[in-house]
Amino acid sequence: MPGYNKCPLCGSGSITVLYECTDSLVSGEKFPLSLCKSCSFVFTNNYPPEKDSGGYYQSDDYISHSDTSAGMMNKLYHIARSWMLAAKFRMLRKESGLKSASVLDIGSGTASFPLYIRKKNWKCLGIEISREARDYALSKNQFTLLPPEAIDDMEAESIDIITMWHTLEHFYHPEEYFYAAHKILKKNGLLVIALPNHWSYDAKKYRDLWAAWDVPRHLWHFNPETIHLLAGKHRFKLRTIKRLPLDAFYVSALSEKHKNSCLPLFRGLIAGLISSLISLFNIKKTSSLVYFFRKDQ
Ligand SMILES: [Zn+2]
Repeated sequence: MPGYNKCPLCGSGSITVLYECTDSLVSGEKFPLSLCKSCSFVFTNNYPPEKDSGGYYQSDDYISHSDTSAGMMNKLYHIARSWMLAAKFRMLRKESGLKSASVLDIGSGTASFPLYIRKKNWKCLGIEISREARDYALSKNQFTLLPPEAIDDMEAESIDIITMWHTLEHFYHPEEYFYAAHKILKKNGLLVIALPNHWSYDAKKYRDLWAAWDVPRHLWHFNPETIHLLAGKHRFKLRTIKRLPLDAFYVSALSEKHKNSCLPLFRGLIAGLISSLISLFNIKKTSSLVYFFRKDQ
């Protein structure tokens, strides 16, 4: 299995094991999370080779691909997702200052976000690595998603906004997406990245059972400082940070399920509430954050 003996973000050799996490969704395998003592970056170590990664998404519970709404957890997820689509669109409109824009969504799953954007009469392209998800988006939503290699042929300075909603942490080669994003964004274009945040109350509370570690599907685990560092390397400047308010509840409830707690939804609701209250006093402790970067030069 591939792995790192130094930090892939800052190059420091001073790394330690933070937790051993179990893939409770698909394989049951254990993966170590490495913590860089220099820059605080956390990454999944001894991760599966890229050619085998698709197997770790083969689960009916993997809702962003299968789009199922069976089960209480998935039903709640779908209600929350509808609410969040509207909230995400409002954020884009406000932060870009544009009344109409061209958007590229990277990691579109079954195309729910690109579809929503198009219904608002904005232009939107979507990229998705999973052929299964692309086929589903076409047959169910009549939306043609592009494979990842399509990004190489996109015209320079042609897009106003690029979005990655909880997808960057899955990419084997995030630097390639930053490079492409810098090329195809217009001058002053926006790069919008949503990520779980391991500085949150819920991450500290659930430790190795925190659902947003999601190993080995999540390869990289950012906090507000490490994403800032990575984006800066690729000539993006942080403009603002926003909260994704529902994620604390969803992640906490899933973490309670991992703990085999009784009443996971209720306990998750309480933990989500505490996490949300703490984040009101310190945004950098929010369970999930959206970072708005401007293309710099
Ligand atoms: Zn580091």
